[in-house]
Amino acid sequence: MIPVNEPLFISEEKKYLAKCIDSGWVSSEGPFVKEFEEKFSSFVGKKYGVAVSNGTAALEIAVGALDIKPGDEVILPTFTIVSCLNAILTYGAKPVFVDSESETWNMDADKIEEKITKKTKAIMVVHMYGHPCDMEKIMKIAKKHKLLVIEDAAEAHGSTYKGKKAGSFGDISCFSFYGNKTITTGEGGMCLTDSKELNDKMRFLRDHGMKAEKKYWHEVVGFNYRMTNMQAALGCAQLERLNSFLKIKKKNAILYEKLLKNVPWISFQTIKKEMKSNYWMFSILVNEKSKHNQDEIIKILKEKGIDTRNVFHAASNMPVHKKHFNKKELFKNSDYISKRALSLPSSTKLTQSDIRYIANIIKSI
Ligand SMILES: *Cc1c(COP(=O)(O)O)cnc(C)c1O
Repeated sequence: MIPVNEPLFISEEKKYLAKCIDSGWVSSEGPFVKEFEEKFSSFVGKKYGVAVSNGTAALEIAVGALDIKPGDEVILPTFTIVSCLNAILTYGAKPVFVDSESETWNMDADKIEEKITKKTKAIMVVHMYGHPCDMEKIMKIAKKHKLLVIEDAAEAHGSTYKGKKAGSFGDISCFSFYGNKTITTGEGGMCLTDSKELNDKMRFLRDHGMKAEKKYWHEVVGFNYRMTNMQAALGCAQLERLNSFLKIKKKNAILYEKLLKNVPWISFQTIKKEMKSNYWMFSILVNEKSKHNQDEIIKILKEKGIDTRNVFHAASNMPVHKKHFNKKELFKNSDYISKRALSLPSSTKLTQSDIRYIANIIKSI
């Protein structure tokens, strides 16, 4: 089976991990955590990095550090991973959904302002499948209405908007280093910010809400969301290879596009001119010209040894989340994309002949 995504490790990973084991620094104390925080934040172009146990934890401490509380509203796309929604609900705030753009699959920036009320505190943007959102438009809206911005860049390591990295725009940006992400620490995440105050608050929340100066003294309810030295060791090794991973992903995407562009039943996620995707996951949309639906295509490809993944279900389609919006409201584009799109194998380990094989099978459907 050709997997959807698998990590690529060469040699430094083992060497750095051995350093943790030999030195005994296996928990979150230990030099790799600080090194990874410094190197990754400087890669993206932010002052501070707070490494955490996973990308969902990153979103949770971001929402907490921005002091989002019951009664506050946070605007976010309905087509995203549930982690975004859960981070908001953890603090008793209200998620307010926005539909996606049909071309980019990202939250439609033109539909944000109509959702702003007196209670709106923040906008949470998500760069879907590595494609950056229209950050100029979104930051302008945030500034005009004095709203905070959380950037979920969990899929967008190295993506850029007008030459600036995804994750360098918001008050806080959040990354994931899960096994299928562009670089991995097994499980892992990081929050980035330029604010010393937010950096301190996030460190505090990550470590049980414990005062740095007074051991075991807690002033708020916090979490244990620390990253281990072993995870950070992997992170440091992977980061050294991130630029080469990005080149491979781009080359793979270009070949996929070239081979599949004339297949009438496939539409692509459009990458706008001022934006560069990291091509985290090469995803296609099974359009109305297809005789088969998304599930059938997934099944046909699986029978040929090709693993694929359906995209996220729109939160507005899940019964458990219906209570968060007016039942009459429609999220047409999110609905369409989430029911029709799927991700093709996108690993850095994929060979050009794997891609040709996959494209030939797709063309034969
Ligand atoms: C992967 C992902 C996350 C969550 O990361 P985990 O490390 O799996 O908790 C959050 N947001 C988006 C958009 C993601 O793709």
